[in-house]
Amino acid sequence: MKSINPATEEVISSFEEMTDEEIRDILNSSQKEFLEWRQVPLETRSEKMRKAADILRRRKEELAKMMTLEMGKIYSQSKGEIDKCALVCDHYADNAEKYISDEKVKTEASKSYISYQPMGVVLAVMPWNFPFWQVIRFAAPALMAGNAGVLKHASNVTGCALMIEEVFREAGFPSNLFRTLIISSRKVDSVINNKIVQAVTLTGSVGAGKSVAASAGRVLKKTVLELGGSDPYIILEDADLEKAAETCVTSRLINTGQSCIAAKRFIVVEDIYDAFEELFVEKMSNKKMGDPFFENTELGPLSSVSLRDDLHEQVTSSIKAGARLVTGGVIPDMKGAYYPATILADVKPGMPAYEDELFGPVASLIKVKDEEEAVHTANDTSFGLGAAIFTSNVKRGEEIARNELNAGCCFVNEYVRSDPRLPFGGVKESGYGRELSYFGIREFMNIKSVYVK
Ligand code: NAP
Repeated sequence: MKSINPATEEVISSFEEMTDEEIRDILNSSQKEFLEWRQVPLETRSEKMRKAADILRRRKEELAKMMTLEMGKIYSQSKGEIDKCALVCDHYADNAEKYISDEKVKTEASKSYISYQPMGVVLAVMPWNFPFWQVIRFAAPALMAGNAGVLKHASNVTGCALMIEEVFREAGFPSNLFRTLIISSRKVDSVINNKIVQAVTLTGSVGAGKSVAASAGRVLKKTVLELGGSDPYIILEDADLEKAAETCVTSRLINTGQSCIAAKRFIVVEDIYDAFEELFVEKMSNKKMGDPFFENTELGPLSSVSLRDDLHEQVTSSIKAGARLVTGGVIPDMKGAYYPATILADVKPGMPAYEDELFGPVASLIKVKDEEEAVHTANDTSFGLGAAIFTSNVKRGEEIARNELNAGCCFVNEYVRSDPRLPFGGVKESGYGRELSYFGIREFMNIKSVYVK
């Protein structure tokens, strides 16, 4: 397994895949340590989790550098990601007691209550796009809950995976409580089948989600799936267009467009369509593309040349099907997995730019007649992760966000983002289950009813 710098296409490091015996040894050790860890008081768990947050902050530059080298994230964004990881560690250190303490329930019993008990060793299959955040937002609540975690990270970010393991060890967690399995996706099925593994969480593509859910289903193990998205952003006629265009561009280009909750389809009512397109094009154009370590870089490389080529294929197929290329759309003549900020207009059902997830800096503009058609178009997707709406009538926006948009996270006049205080997850092919907030920590717990006569 290789880590390849997508900015230079050079191999950074190679890793040997673990043998079946090594995997078994790790799972056995994790199980052993889980049985002790589950008895450790919450206060002690919190102390260690706060220490993990401190280590993340202290080692920020070094961790961020590995991220940028392995998957091309702009260095300042890599540092921001580490800060956010520290925040989620602090959040669960501060709130676990509130989230998972016993809850009394009045019944005919002399005493009855709900108790949250850890499940055991949980497997996390994770993607490369936020190599630290995706893992830590699973690991912080899981370890605070008293579970152990084993990570199968994306094959191109093994360096990050090993560093995460190191952070938890340095923070004083038992050395096998959080372990990285260096394995390809072919071995995931056998890990799920191992009796020690109690549950699986996967963040990644729909295909990977279906495959892992099928494996887990065969042995009846719980899954949480955080999958892809094609988030619609609706711009109504009464929106502040300048602000809406700015927010839409920011959301489309975060992480060079490789975010599950990046804005992907921009659905604009016809009255203001031309004005919005003009502003949007102005803000998407002339983005400084280049070395992710340079301070003024706005667009780094994509995570690999092959994923860049897949994205370009989606763009060219959409153009062949009738989409209008407004800007970008040409692979630059330079080394690295670069792709320019691209806008496709006149996007219609049946085109990849309408139906599929475009995982890169490519925006799909869709013109609609009115609010009703906008909502219909927003929901006309197999995904349901995030959605946003822009209007100066906040009440109208809230009504649409709450009651009409079929997605897990619906924002008004703001771009969709994750926040440890709010649950995060999707509906339809964007997956099921929730991360973050108290929902996230309870996903991998036995919600036990205790009844004492
Ligand atoms: P991916 O190809 O599905 O890979 C994700 C993880 O699953 C990797 O560790 C991968 O391992 C593994 N995997 C792939 N196929 C598998 C299979 N058949 N069985 C078991 N494991 C398998 O996704 P990606 O390209 O890394 O990430 C991009 C996708 O993730 C996008 O669709 C994005 O929207 C989604 N995502 C969703 C969220 C969310 O919270 N909803 C957040 C971030 C990303 P290998 O690397 O070894 O193949």
